[in-house]
Amino acid sequence: MRRNLRHATTTIRDKRLRAVEELPDWEGLRDEGAALKDHALANLSEALLDLEAAVTARGGHVHWAQDAQEARAIVAGIAASHGAREVIKVKSISTDEIELNAALEERGIHAIETDLAELIVQLAEDRPSHILVPAIHRNRAEIRDLFRRKLGADLLTDDPKVLAEAARVYLREKFLSTKVAVSGANFAVADTGTVCVVESEGNGRMCLTLPDVLISVMGIEKVLPTWADVAVFLRLLPRSSTAERMNPYTSFWSGVTPGDGPQEFHLVLLDNGRTDVLADEVGRQTLRCIRCSACLNVCPVYERAGGHAYGSVYPGPIGAILTPQLLQLEDKNANTLPWASTLCGACYDACPVKINIPEVLLYLRGKITGDKPVNAEAVAFKTAAWIMSEPFRFEGALKLARTGQGPFVKHGAIHALPGLLSGWTDTRDLPALPAQSFREWWRARPLPGGHAAGDDAQTSEGERLPPQRDDRGPA
Ligand code: SF4
Repeated sequence: MRRNLRHATTTIRDKRLRAVEELPDWEGLRDEGAALKDHALANLSEALLDLEAAVTARGGHVHWAQDAQEARAIVAGIAASHGAREVIKVKSISTDEIELNAALEERGIHAIETDLAELIVQLAEDRPSHILVPAIHRNRAEIRDLFRRKLGADLLTDDPKVLAEAARVYLREKFLSTKVAVSGANFAVADTGTVCVVESEGNGRMCLTLPDVLISVMGIEKVLPTWADVAVFLRLLPRSSTAERMNPYTSFWSGVTPGDGPQEFHLVLLDNGRTDVLADEVGRQTLRCIRCSACLNVCPVYERAGGHAYGSVYPGPIGAILTPQLLQLEDKNANTLPWASTLCGACYDACPVKINIPEVLLYLRGKITGDKPVNAEAVAFKTAAWIMSEPFRFEGALKLARTGQGPFVKHGAIHALPGLLSGWTDTRDLPALPAQSFREWWRARPLPGGHAAGDDAQTSEGERLPPQRDDRGPA
């Protein structure tokens, strides 16, 4: 899994760097994107009402969903009212967020993912591990075996063209026979009621044009006031996500058009915690996110842990700040996510809309720990800070630990610790403390002239000063 992931993220990362370097003022474009998003968010209520009016005027239906449950019920109700036993889906993370597929299945409606990577994840009964490339953790051989098992495809090789053809044959029949489609939305334009989906394969466009009924589930933060705003994001998004100059397929639709495309269109506006995020002065920048996944591809934690480790629909750095906010820091899994970061800042540098992810991570950490009563962990860290703040205390503690570790050390490592400390050794070994600390070695090392380095000058607090330049021998 790690090998697949490292290979994929490194490739995308390098391509993205080349793609953004082509633009003379990438930084200016990022600033513009951030400012436009902030403006849209500051005027969100107005923009959403404009969007509703425009979609309705063009023959569409707008539904407001306060939470995931409401959104699921709306989509399932519309599909059921058309007697649908199957719906085809455009890749959509907002429908993953509301766990739509499972809800439809409960009502006897099977949702078929049509994005190739989403289809792989669905057939494998797996979970997506990347925003843009949900099956990034799978290699070609695994996919060939999966298609053989689940699609009955007679595949002799794992050549990408052959795999794509097998999926095409399966999906083509679904596109032509299914009457209801479900999509997400990348953007919506308030003043014309236009919804936009960008994608690379064209499968999404089949879903958006062939069925009779189209239901789009859109987070409320995706609305932009005007077409001019969309133009900026259509330059920022492809270079940041797939390192392309423009998306191969960009679909726009406004309501319904007699005789052309779906004849019934429903737009579900999903809140699900977003208005609370908007109300938070520091956290609200999270809603600028255009789901490009650039932050995932540069994150050292994501590269090693993989998307599943986050236990969140939104993995990586954006997941670490968005999920806990959407779930209001109460979810026991989500409120550990802000610690899934080294705070290296690579995500901030890569983000096309300049979301200061490290700032939000620290802010959320403060909120989560600030809300907690004093517990054993907090006491342990305070004590550790006190010990480490004075070298002589730290050295004393090391000596004590070295004596105390004796009964637990086996072959140079500690495999099991007692009590609260067992939490560490349950999942990993602890290297044993060496017989001599660095400071002890430093003091004891022989110097030219027969003196021990311990004869170096000593500070009033008992701390040894580092050697002077000529102590180190030839430069
Ligand atoms: S936080 Fe920024 S880099 Fe990450 S997915 Fe969102 S827009 Fe892209």
